[in-house]
Amino acid sequence: MKPEDYITREEKYGAHNYHPLPVVLKKGEGVFVWDVEGKRYFDFLSGYSALSQGHCHPKIIEALKKQAEELTLVSRAFHADVLGEYMEFACKFFGYDKLLPMNTGAEAVETALKLARRWGYRVKGIASERAKIIVCSENFHGRTITIISMSTDPGSYADFGPYTPGFIKVQYNNVQELEEALKEPDVVGFLVEPIQGEAGVVVPDEGYLRVCYELCRQHNVLFMADEIQTGIGRTGKLLACDYEAIHPDILILGKALSGGVTPVSAVLADDEIMLTIAPGEHGSTYGGNPLAARVGIAALEVVRDERLSEKAYEMGVLFRDEMNKIDNPMIKKVRGKGLLNAVVTEPHGDKVAWDICLALKENGLIAKPTHDHIIRFTPPLVITREQMLEAIDIIRETFAQF
Ligand code: PLP
Repeated sequence: MKPEDYITREEKYGAHNYHPLPVVLKKGEGVFVWDVEGKRYFDFLSGYSALSQGHCHPKIIEALKKQAEELTLVSRAFHADVLGEYMEFACKFFGYDKLLPMNTGAEAVETALKLARRWGYRVKGIASERAKIIVCSENFHGRTITIISMSTDPGSYADFGPYTPGFIKVQYNNVQELEEALKEPDVVGFLVEPIQGEAGVVVPDEGYLRVCYELCRQHNVLFMADEIQTGIGRTGKLLACDYEAIHPDILILGKALSGGVTPVSAVLADDEIMLTIAPGEHGSTYGGNPLAARVGIAALEVVRDERLSEKAYEMGVLFRDEMNKIDNPMIKKVRGKGLLNAVVTEPHGDKVAWDICLALKENGLIAKPTHDHIIRFTPPLVITREQMLEAIDIIRETFAQF
C-alpha cells in the first residue's frame, strides 16, 4: 500500500474530527518516527507532549510487557498489588496526600471539577447547586460537554449545546479580571493552564500565577492547575507551577504520565479535598489499572533518572536562541519555556503555517500548526544536543525556502 492508500482508507472509515498532516507512521524510537516507506522524521509534536520520554522508551515498554503478562485489569472492585505502589510513588513525587487515577486528560479535568464542587459544598459550605468555577479565555481542557462549556473557542463549543452552567470566564493573564470574579459569591475554584498549550503556547507574564494563587488563598478558593500538557518536565521544571513556587490545591496530570504508551491521567490533592468523594461516587473501569500503574511508575522514573526537566530547560534555551536568529519574514515571534515552544508565523503571499509544516515534513521533521498561524515545536525531552542542532538546521533551511 502507498501512503495515499492508508490516508484514503482512514478518511473513508474514520470520522473527520482531525486533519492530520499527510504522513503515515509505522515505527518510533526516541525522537524519531519512520513512515510506511521507511523515511525517518524528527517528531516535533510528541503526541501533543505525551511522548516526553521519547517513542517506545525501553524502560517503559519493559514495564508494560512484564505487567501485560501478569495482570492487566481488575477494575476498582478489587485491589491490585501495583496500584498502591503507583499511588504512593506519585504522591511522594509531586507532594500530595492522595491520587485519583483516570485515563484521559479530559477525564482528569472532569474529576478535578467534581472535586472542587464537592469541596465547595462539603467543606467551604456553599449552598447546593450554586458552586462556580473560574476559567480562562482561550483555555483548552479537553472535549467533553462540560469542558467545552468552559471554552471560549467556537471551534470547540459551537453547536454542541446546551452547555453545563457554573463557570465564570476571565481573561487569561489578567489579574484584575480574576480579582473581580473572586468577589462573586459561591466561587470554589480557579482552573488554569500555567502555559496555554493548545492556544498556541501562550506564556503568561512572570508572577501572574503567583498572584492568582495568592488571590485564591485570600478568597478560600481552590487553585487548580491543568498541567496535562505543561507537566512532568516539559517546560524545564517538573511542573510549570514550580517556576513560581506554587503548590496547586488540585493538580491535573495526563499525557506524559505514561510516556505516550497507554492513557494514564491523574488528579492529585490533599485529604481535605480528596476525601470529599466517597466509594461509589466517582470512578472509571480502566482508571488505575495495573498496566497503567506500572507504566506510570516507569514513566516518572525515566523523567527523574534521565533528568528530563533539566534537559528540557537547556535544550529549550538553545532552541529559542537559534530560532530567534533566523531572519525570515514569516517568523513573527518565538515563545515558550523548556521544550514547549511555538513559532508564530505570518502569511507570506499565499503561504501559511500549514505549508511550512508540509515542507518540514519533506525535509524530515514533523510538526503541526495550531490556530492556523502558530507552529508548535515540542520534541521528546530525551533529544540530545546533536539531534537538536540537526533539527534546528532542518527548520532553518525549511524557512529559507519561503
Ligand atoms: N488539558 C490540556 C492542557 C491539554 O493540553 C489537553 C490535551 O491536549 C487536555 C486537557 C485533554 O487531554 P486528553 O486529550 O487526553 O483528553
